[in-house]
Amino acid sequence: LSFIVTILGSNSATPAFNRNPTSQLLRIGQEQLLIDCGEGTQMRLLALKQRASRIRYIFISHLHGDHYLGLVGLLSSLHLNGREEDMHLFGPPGLDEILTTQFKYSNTYLCYRIHFHVVSTTPETILDAESFTVSTLPLSHRIHCMGFLFREKPGKRRINKDLLPPTLSVHHLKRLKEGKDLFDPAGNLLYRNEDLTLPPRLPRSYAFCSDTRYEERLVDYVRGVSLLYHESTFLDDQRERAAETFHSTARQAATIARLAEVDKLVLGHYSSRYRDLVPFLTEAREVFPNAVLSIEGEDIEVE
Ligand SMILES: [Zn+2]
Ligand SMILES: [Zn+2]
Repeated sequence: LSFIVTILGSNSATPAFNRNPTSQLLRIGQEQLLIDCGEGTQMRLLALKQRASRIRYIFISHLHGDHYLGLVGLLSSLHLNGREEDMHLFGPPGLDEILTTQFKYSNTYLCYRIHFHVVSTTPETILDAESFTVSTLPLSHRIHCMGFLFREKPGKRRINKDLLPPTLSVHHLKRLKEGKDLFDPAGNLLYRNEDLTLPPRLPRSYAFCSDTRYEERLVDYVRGVSLLYHESTFLDDQRERAAETFHSTARQAATIARLAEVDKLVLGHYSSRYRDLVPFLTEAREVFPNAVLSIEGEDIEVE
């Protein structure tokens, strides 16, 4: 199963230096999920040849414009393109009112249904899909704001092709995949399942921590995740400004990653005061070596 984060927008507040406000596309197998939807998100999807029509779930962290002002445009285009499939939208209270007002005054009756799920800031599971779950993460920002944790469900045991006897029938292979032992027609045990299969892959996980000031409470919630996105609006010489505006520095993001012992950290939500992003990486890697920058258009595989 693929588990890939594509960076659509990486900047904070306003577009700058060809960087766009926050948005990410998460692909888990066949499912496409959109996380935040800053202005220009649908253009970014088009530029990357990603089909917005395949998105079934949208998660909005909070109602600062740089995280959702692209939503009405995206939802309108889906309508104009004749979407029929339901859309599930998870977001803070008030988002439904904003959308309803927009569509009311443009006299738009969407040709598909939006299920709006109000998400509170108390950590809880908000989606239980076939192959993954989504729960919320508590953040500390100026307004109602939450992060999202995407967690793969444990998989099945995998057939070890190197150990398969050539005589196995299709029926036997099917039983193996179902985790069952193999018997001959007389009911005698031929092979034990665990002798021909490998353990399931470890479930992968992705934590998206949108706008937040340094919040150590987060550590327990994101402990051991495969990939952590943590905003890093500023460099650490601006940490007072970061605290005042409820944002974090690259060093603080890396500190959360280190304390939580995650596998990999991705930085983002850069302030428009910075043209050069290399100092973010340098600063973060002093604390947590396995850190990368979010760069628009790039895919980050969750491993
Ligand atoms: Zn923001
Ligand atoms: Zn914000």
